[in-house]
Amino acid sequence: DSMYFTHIDSLYFAVKPMNCPGSILFYREAFHSYKEFPLRLAEYGLVHRHELSGVLSGLFRVRSFTQDDAHIFVTPSQIKEEVARVIDLVDYLYKIFRFDYHVELSTKPEKAMGSDEIWQIAERSLKDALKSKNLDFKINEGAGAFYGPKIDFHIKDVLGRSWQCATIQVDFQMPEKFDLHYIGEDNSKHNPVIIHRVIYGSIERFLGILIEHYAGKLPLWLAPVQARILTVADRFENYANEIKEDFEKNNIRVEVDSRTESVGYKVREAQLQKITLILTVGEKEEKDKTVAVRTLDNKVYFDVKINDLLEKVLKNIEEKKVKVEL
Ligand code: ZN
Repeated sequence: DSMYFTHIDSLYFAVKPMNCPGSILFYREAFHSYKEFPLRLAEYGLVHRHELSGVLSGLFRVRSFTQDDAHIFVTPSQIKEEVARVIDLVDYLYKIFRFDYHVELSTKPEKAMGSDEIWQIAERSLKDALKSKNLDFKINEGAGAFYGPKIDFHIKDVLGRSWQCATIQVDFQMPEKFDLHYIGEDNSKHNPVIIHRVIYGSIERFLGILIEHYAGKLPLWLAPVQARILTVADRFENYANEIKEDFEKNNIRVEVDSRTESVGYKVREAQLQKITLILTVGEKEEKDKTVAVRTLDNKVYFDVKINDLLEKVLKNIEEKKVKVEL
């Protein structure tokens, strides 16, 4: 119901609302053996869903978004180990952003495809994977997808709100419906199991969460503009550009603001734009080969040597620090 359709010449087209069928078509391009498993197909997939205009909201609910999707083809005996690996990946990535999270396991809904036996194997595998990682989890009885049970990860932002982001779903149904096979150890044909997983969920939505979580003050390593160099007067433009070149050589995203506005005005503007490092250069700085540095938490450092600053900036980026430490 929420797909977009179009009719061109005598053909009908639709824009994909999910990535699964694409991965399945790719899988069907070749014969597969259990020896290739786990076969991990990852995709940053752009999907479109015609949400009602009333429910659209900033970056949180949009009609076109990108999922960090993967479809992992496994044998039934590989589910537990592979799910445990995905759990490790979720944990690794969420820790980088310092997000706390909790986990929920959703089991067989009333309207479901597949036998009870298959559901039991799938639910057991997910539970065992969670237990092997010593993760506490809440069980949502009957809240699984119609094609299989799932694990959801809910992150908590700084305002205490909870967001469902990562999901891991075990699917016995689509492989059967789409007639997917692999040759097993016994030399005969079997249906693989698909593990559907996203870590961020929707990249747009995750960015929205990050922006609110950090109140717009993205950590240095994430900031679109990491440093802006402000000139006190336009005769210091050359010096500002020298610093810019040094920074750019080290892959730091930097801009120069050499407009003939007052420094106060330029600082305020950079602060409103949440530029992580605001560097000011004038007479003294040019002579001493230094800069004055202002961070987003309004700490100011004078007479900072360019090389010292560069070293510290690179360390902050390398260690993905949430707040700049100079
Ligand atoms: Zn999928």
